[in-house]
Amino acid sequence: MFKKILIANRGEIACRVAATAQRLGVRTVAMYSDADAQAKHVAACDEAVHIGGSAPKDSYLRWERIIEAAQATGAQAIHPGYGFLSENEEFAQACADAGLVFIGPPPSAIQAMGLKAESKQLMEKAGVPLVPGYHGADQNPAMLRHEADRIGYPVLIKASAGGGGKGMRAVEKAGDFAEALASCQREAINSFGDDAVLIEKYVQRPRHIEIQVFADAHGQCVYLHERDCSVQRRHQKVLEEAPAPGMSEHLRRQMGEAAVAAAQAVGYVGAGTVEFIVEGLEGGEDPAAGPPQGGAAPAGAREPHQRHSVGGAHFYFMEMNTRLQVEHPVTEAITGLDLVEWQLRVASGEPLPLTQDQIPLRGHAIEARICAENPDNQFLPATGTLQVYAKPAATSFEAGVVRIDDGVREGDAISPFYDSMVAKLIVHGDTREQALARLDQALSELHIVGLATNVQFLRHVLATESFAQARLDTALIPREADRLFHQERVGAPLAVAAVVAHVLEAEQALAGDDPFSRRDGWRSHGLAQRRFAFDVAGESLHAQLTYGRGGLLLALGEEAAQPLRAERRGHELVLHLGAQTVRTRLYWQAGVAHVFTPQGAARITLVDALAHAGEAAHEDGRLTAPMPGKIIAFLVKPGEKVTKGQPLAVMEAMKMEHTIAAPAEGQVGELLYAPGEQVAEGAELLKMAG
Ligand code: ADP
Ligand code: ADP
Ligand code: MG
Repeated sequence: MFKKILIANRGEIACRVAATAQRLGVRTVAMYSDADAQAKHVAACDEAVHIGGSAPKDSYLRWERIIEAAQATGAQAIHPGYGFLSENEEFAQACADAGLVFIGPPPSAIQAMGLKAESKQLMEKAGVPLVPGYHGADQNPAMLRHEADRIGYPVLIKASAGGGGKGMRAVEKAGDFAEALASCQREAINSFGDDAVLIEKYVQRPRHIEIQVFADAHGQCVYLHERDCSVQRRHQKVLEEAPAPGMSEHLRRQMGEAAVAAAQAVGYVGAGTVEFIVEGLEGGEDPAAGPPQGGAAPAGAREPHQRHSVGGAHFYFMEMNTRLQVEHPVTEAITGLDLVEWQLRVASGEPLPLTQDQIPLRGHAIEARICAENPDNQFLPATGTLQVYAKPAATSFEAGVVRIDDGVREGDAISPFYDSMVAKLIVHGDTREQALARLDQALSELHIVGLATNVQFLRHVLATESFAQARLDTALIPREADRLFHQERVGAPLAVAAVVAHVLEAEQALAGDDPFSRRDGWRSHGLAQRRFAFDVAGESLHAQLTYGRGGLLLALGEEAAQPLRAERRGHELVLHLGAQTVRTRLYWQAGVAHVFTPQGAARITLVDALAHAGEAAHEDGRLTAPMPGKIIAFLVKPGEKVTKGQPLAVMEAMKMEHTIAAPAEGQVGELLYAPGEQVAEGAELLKMAG
């Protein structure tokens, strides 16, 4: 085994590799760009080398510099992770030339699988089934069009050098071909510097099922079962699971053997994934018999892989990814194996730890990719700071129930330089149903504030009947769009009640009083009633709280008042609103309350928590702090004209943020404090002129 390795990557995968290395007693060297100087992966390694600017081409792709760093630190091997240099055969070769072990396949295998068209020609020779198509070198547009006509529409035009779902165009009919080809070629040249394309039959409603393979340098090659990655958006994976629902023992063996044949055809060594597209396989519900136990293929019992139709299901080779895959943890969860450990062992010359029939398969695992993006705006990537990053409790890797792989900590930024993936949440259960329930629960406990994420969207996907019943195919998301986008599970009444309850609870902590249990017509701020003003997605909302003999009553807008009660349970406040009982957790960020409940999340702006008390304080024209606290920000500048109700300043008091609003139209005079300063109750915060 190596004594020291350099991890030529960042983020989640760099942390993942470091964890295994540490467990095996292998020392680790991290590398980092300017933007990543304080990153989690740097802290996760024993030492770290700065390699350059924030843009990948100035750092994570500078392979001469990376090789120098490995040599300077005495690392014996380089783990490339995924993305970046992981599928760059020149880099793999340069490592070898420098006397370093590249923890991955030989450069020749990377090259053979690097271009989709060439790899398909090779696979055809090796007898691996392919989608009917054209994979030739001749790129004459008229000839390509002729091939498309021959294949029959719809067809898919793919950039041969493509990856990450980019450079693909589906063409419905002959008349659309020329334009789609030109557009695909433009994207291919821009993204991959190579405009060669291939054409294949566009399979309708297929499933994406891939096989994890592993080969050692002694001629052994095994498959570690399959992963189903059919749930995709824009040809990119969203949820991944293992085993594939509805998979038969027989089909698994057929596909596993085809994948092994693919790997062996290129002299593969290390971890790789052979991706297949599958037609005619029904997912259905969990087979009553439960997941199969033990390994699959008796060694030496290979059938000819040309036979690729099993019980009505057809599978076709798509591509081979010559690296560790993002979704490898689901394979780890169902096999109990550590694939990074296998990578390190194989790269240091050891034989594969297990033979084919020793590879376990137990239970069901699902991974969700947590990304900084806005699903409701075409999954536009989001950047920002993880103001809140609260995670569900992880159970140990061995137990494999809930696992979180990430490369960020609370307070870290998701920058525009790198991938928008924040974390991966992986759960394991005895059955698919149990794994799904655990994933939904874990997602409800994953609270991210500071940037848009797909967390709620993922919960909507899990809730669709298609997904729950494992009717999977790559069109699931577009088909279920009505249930997935612009969905709110926490309505305004509940969100408002949650904020009011949290405000009262924080005041009670200060006052040493319990407004929720009093029945004596208690008054707050000398008032029997109190108004709260909110802003929800640009709309203003008012809520009225009445302190009565029977307890508190909350009315939203013109609606009837409902009894409100709450009690604290750990970090959560259990809310009773009318007949509803809901657990809520709330985080404040710049005057916005982020409410999380087991059902979902909501964002709501508290314009003025102390409308009446505030007005009282404004009576003499002075804008004062309603309670002792800290100034977070002024939202206006001296001289600025403001309207009644416009937020002027944000202060933090009683563990929450309060917005001070303008009592009337006017002009801002002087700001009397600076952000960060502590202020006493009643202190004047800013002067208003006019
Ligand atoms: P990438 O290198 O971008 O991962 P792939 O060839 O693996 O490209 O294809 C990505 C996705 O596109 C697949 O997971 C599948 O959903 C879809 N896809 C690829 N080929 C076909 C096809 N022939 N018919 C239908 N969908 C396809
Ligand atoms: P898969 O491994 O399933 O093929 P993708 O097709 O999404 O997954 O390819 C790997 C992706 O990982 C690439 O899109 C790349 O941008 C992204 N990536 C590369 N390095 C990192 C990293 N350190 N952290 C997160 N994502 C990364
Ligand atoms: Mg792919």
